[in-house]
Amino acid sequence: MNNFEDFLLNVPYPRPDIYGSLSMPVYSTASYEFASASEMEAAFCGKTTDHTYSRISNPTVHYFEERVRQITGAFNVTALNSGMAAVSNLFMTIAYSGANIVTSPHLFGNTYSFFATTLKAFGVEVRFCDLTNENEIRERIDENSCAIFFEVVTNPQLEVADISMLSAVAKEKNVPLIADTTVIPFSVFNAGKFGVDIEVVSSTKYISGGATSIGGLIIDYATFDWRNNKVLNPLANEQGVHAFNTRLRREIHRNFGAYMDPRTAQMQTIGLETLQLRYERQSRTALELATCLEQTEGIESVNYTGLPGNPFYEVSRRQFGDAPGAMLTFDLSSKDACFHLLDKLKVIRRATNLFDNKSLAIHPATTIYGSFSPDQREVMGISDKTIRLSVGLESVELLLEDIRQALM
Ligand SMILES: *Cc1c(COP(=O)(O)O)cnc(C)c1O
Repeated sequence: MNNFEDFLLNVPYPRPDIYGSLSMPVYSTASYEFASASEMEAAFCGKTTDHTYSRISNPTVHYFEERVRQITGAFNVTALNSGMAAVSNLFMTIAYSGANIVTSPHLFGNTYSFFATTLKAFGVEVRFCDLTNENEIRERIDENSCAIFFEVVTNPQLEVADISMLSAVAKEKNVPLIADTTVIPFSVFNAGKFGVDIEVVSSTKYISGGATSIGGLIIDYATFDWRNNKVLNPLANEQGVHAFNTRLRREIHRNFGAYMDPRTAQMQTIGLETLQLRYERQSRTALELATCLEQTEGIESVNYTGLPGNPFYEVSRRQFGDAPGAMLTFDLSSKDACFHLLDKLKVIRRATNLFDNKSLAIHPATTIYGSFSPDQREVMGISDKTIRLSVGLESVELLLEDIRQALM
């Protein structure tokens, strides 16, 4: 089945529900009962896949993980209770004191802070570089590089990495390639096929289905030989490419205790079913809106990778096809002009978050990046003059009219 929905709607339950429930029930339980001590031993020692305790696994969450696993063709999927839990659990599994992470300074704000502050306190170094510059990346890598990490489209700069190039460098240098793919869903972009070893996603965004809940995913393609990672080396000598998943599931995620809640998993499973429909519609509206905004007086510039004049147009098209997503930014003359516009919006909501069914607008410099100094913001490419827009399911006419009246 090639059609995304046809495939998705037919992923069977790992075990049928005893009542024949048509949607996956929420198994709201902390613990699970066993018929005998030996069955209990087998489950606790990992000899069976029976659930034991919902911090470790849960049927509803497992079903969500299984659906994502089948769509992506990954080896394993782990669902966590936020995108940041996914990012932090992932790096706790592969980083160690003395390790470094090669990445761009153009990162989601909390990921930046997690690398530059939280991990730093544990002796992990973050090496920022321009990920569009192959030579710069090569120079930053050494034997303690535990990852090349990138966001497929940076937010809010909208810079698109050339993933084939990154993958070639990662393979040559024997470093895992890790991507945050939150802004381009796996219904249109298969990260594994582009050579990404591990994918991390904030399922709060496109997947949750109308901003219903907070969640995150670690999607492991089991393609990297972990003998090249100092902390995973002993495990990898036995398990090779599966060492990451074993440490994540048997140690890290249990110890940090950030597994997804079953209610969230159920909402996000339902969200998955309409993911592609919403994505196509929102992407189409974003392109039409960006095209019109370029012609609108009072707007200095529009940044959207689907516009033919955009510097990342070609690479975006090659990787993500003709639907490059529902996030765009535009610049006005000043911060005051941005505040004026935001205050006058009537339809578009003043809120953070991305890919809600409703359109959302925010001034990133004073909100998401408000705690960074002006110098740091400059390094991160965050301008005072920029508004970020997440395009929802409203008509393009209504959105355009709202922006035009707010510019007055
Ligand atoms: C939102 C976001 C995150 C963090 O996800 P949460 O679910 O808010 O914890 C990470 N990366 C990107 C690109 C995001 O947009």
